[in-house]
Amino acid sequence: MPVFSLDPAQVDWCATLRALAAERLRPLAEKGEPGRVNRPLVAALGDLGLLSRLFSAGALELCLLRESLATACTEAETALALQGLGAHPVASAGTAAQRERWLPEVAAGRAVAAFALSEPDAGSDAAALALDAAPDGAGGWRLTGEKRWISNAPEADFYTVFARTTPGAGSRGVTAFLVPADRPGLTGEPLDMLSPHAIGALAFDGVPVGPDDLLGEPDHGFRVAMNTLNLFRPSVGAFAVGMAQAALDAALAHTAGRTAFGGVLADLQSVGHRVAEMATRTEAARLLVYAAAAAYDAGAADVPRRSAMAKLLATETAQYVVDSAVQLHGARALQRGHLLEHLYREVRAPRIYEGATEVQRTIIAKELYKRHAAARADAALEEARA
Ligand SMILES: Cc1cc2nc3c(=O)[nH]c(=O)nc-3n(C[C@H](O)[C@H](O)[C@H](O)COP(=O)(O)OP(=O)(O)OC[C@H]3O[C@@H](n4cnc5c(N)ncnc54)[C@H](O)[C@@H]3O)c2cc1C
Repeated sequence: MPVFSLDPAQVDWCATLRALAAERLRPLAEKGEPGRVNRPLVAALGDLGLLSRLFSAGALELCLLRESLATACTEAETALALQGLGAHPVASAGTAAQRERWLPEVAAGRAVAAFALSEPDAGSDAAALALDAAPDGAGGWRLTGEKRWISNAPEADFYTVFARTTPGAGSRGVTAFLVPADRPGLTGEPLDMLSPHAIGALAFDGVPVGPDDLLGEPDHGFRVAMNTLNLFRPSVGAFAVGMAQAALDAALAHTAGRTAFGGVLADLQSVGHRVAEMATRTEAARLLVYAAAAAYDAGAADVPRRSAMAKLLATETAQYVVDSAVQLHGARALQRGHLLEHLYREVRAPRIYEGATEVQRTIIAKELYKRHAAARADAALEEARA
């Protein structure tokens, strides 16, 4: 039964993507090494024409892509999303030369991209970032400092890097640069994380960058970062919905067949009720994600509130659903290599990255009070006119 907001062509496309993920991408993901970039998988995403979609897709299409891949292969989903996150600043703010040099390579899955915003002392408070871009006296800059928790680092081929060009100016003193991985002075190390994909730290020791490396105008880089995150925020929710669906499907299959106390687990009312709750919450999250993405595509005024609600509800729901599925499976779910053991590791990080749950609540509250204040001001104006 199609979800009301999707048309039959979108529903068919999702089914095709799920089949591709299961049949073509899953086997490649299984050959990958945890914590390392899986280049054959990235190349396959390019060969299937999925990466080029990143540069033409609206927010809803991006959500359908991420949700569908996540249902069958989270590694493929993450590889795709990271190509988009790292390359979107190039597509949206890069020069013609930068776009020509990098975007076809990203779309083909030959070049691996990364988005380098976070630092040891600037995570949720990204505007506090301190990576220093000091003028080199010849029209360029030297980058000195550290980036941390950067997906695909240190193996990416290029990084979109956000650095401070004006000290003390907060978000207004940040500049975005495209930094190829082979620049002198740029080194990195992998971090051993719970999440299965590659994440690392980058050290910048006077890395030279020039005007040709700028992504947008100097001191206007924070907007480049936020525009990228605004597009990607609902789709983090879609990733979470895909994982929740995979966990729900596994729970249904397991509880329908597992015998205990002379029947199957599904016959126990508490089990049935748990599965019903998992399904209901997953569907609610899915609809909120689609609504936020559709609002983004329509250029609606309330995108910040909707996107924050979608990311918040979907990532928290996925945690609940995956944890419930583990509970319904018992010990087998915790054995290394089990789908749910994998999902249990995957599901945790999206509640933290691209705006932690608490940050989303703060955004929602701010938007609600803004709307409330605007409505009161309108009412006062009406009253004064009457
Ligand atoms: C798997 C993974 C992949 C990542 N990939 C990337 C990447 O590719 N590029 C990149 O730039 N970064 C990446 N990050 C970093 C991520 O963006 C940061 O972890 C995130 O912004 C939170 O920053 P922090 O970890 O420093 O936590 P902090 O900012 O120190 O926050 C810690 C906690 O404090 C609370 N908190 C913080 N601010 C508020 C607030 N305003 N109101 C209420 N509570 C608050 C929240 O509970 C939050 O979780 C990744 C992180 C993970 C885990």
